[in-house]
Amino acid sequence: MTPQPSCRICGSAYEEREAIGPLTDRRKGLEGSWRLRPCGVCHAIAMDPLPTDEELSVYYASYDQDERVDLSRKRTSDYPRLRRAFHWLSGDVDPRDFVKVPAGARVLDYGCGHAGYLRDFHDRGVSITGAEIAGYLVAACREAGFDVRKVEGFAEIPFADGEFDIVYLMQVFEHLRDPHQFMEELARILKPGGSLYLALPNVASAWRKVFGRNWVSGWFAPFHLFHYDRQALASLARQHHFQVVEGWSRTPSSWFRLNLKAWIHAEDNRVDWRRSWLDNRFVAYPLMLLLRLIEIPLRERDCLVVHLKKSGIV
Ligand SMILES: [Zn+2]
Repeated sequence: MTPQPSCRICGSAYEEREAIGPLTDRRKGLEGSWRLRPCGVCHAIAMDPLPTDEELSVYYASYDQDERVDLSRKRTSDYPRLRRAFHWLSGDVDPRDFVKVPAGARVLDYGCGHAGYLRDFHDRGVSITGAEIAGYLVAACREAGFDVRKVEGFAEIPFADGEFDIVYLMQVFEHLRDPHQFMEELARILKPGGSLYLALPNVASAWRKVFGRNWVSGWFAPFHLFHYDRQALASLARQHHFQVVEGWSRTPSSWFRLNLKAWIHAEDNRVDWRRSWLDNRFVAYPLMLLLRLIEIPLRERDCLVVHLKKSGIV
């Protein structure tokens, strides 16, 4: 007899609930179809079956194409208040706006990408290290003078026990195949009382019901392996001795345009590279303002940010 399948986040036996899908890749042009399975107890939604590591490395190979590394792009870092105000309008979730770094704190930007955030913290004198899985990005970051460590796999985080006061992961956590093991690793590298900030798609978002299968570009299958809401994240956090300090959500207008693009171009599986009339600034900016107004009464929006604290003496 095959064992009853159970939720990989909270361990509850799955009820007979309808799977989400089949979903196809809407963003990078991959062939195939995938299904997701919701847990009725903790609300986590998991890809089922989970892709193997080999399959994942094939999927991620599609990322490297069309990527250009440009670390010289100037951000609005000289005007943090202006940036914050703009992000309030655009809905962009930017750790520079909300990660508070006390003097002398050690910070890790896990999945630092093009060092867009890391650069700013670094320039402000923060002792920040990046970690990144894409070799070409690690090389570019190091060349630009940043301390960035290459990550070989998601099973281990290549840092010493208790090395960091603050770790943030922006749009990374939902890609992980083994969230429990990763939380263990995060708890290990954080000091007692250390802070963990996660930003990721919010499965409780009101827009999910509106856009259905097209939501955040077809659930970003097959790259987003787990989807969470506040409850699912709190369940995971508790199991690894983290407390929830606060959580909030907002919808980046760029995500909203992706939702619309996926909905309008129903057969397109390369939405990320499609230039659409929605990207025209005379459409995008009014849409951004409209979105802010529409969202006022919504409680749950597309991108969830949670601040967790590792238990222990500060
Ligand atoms: Zn569950």
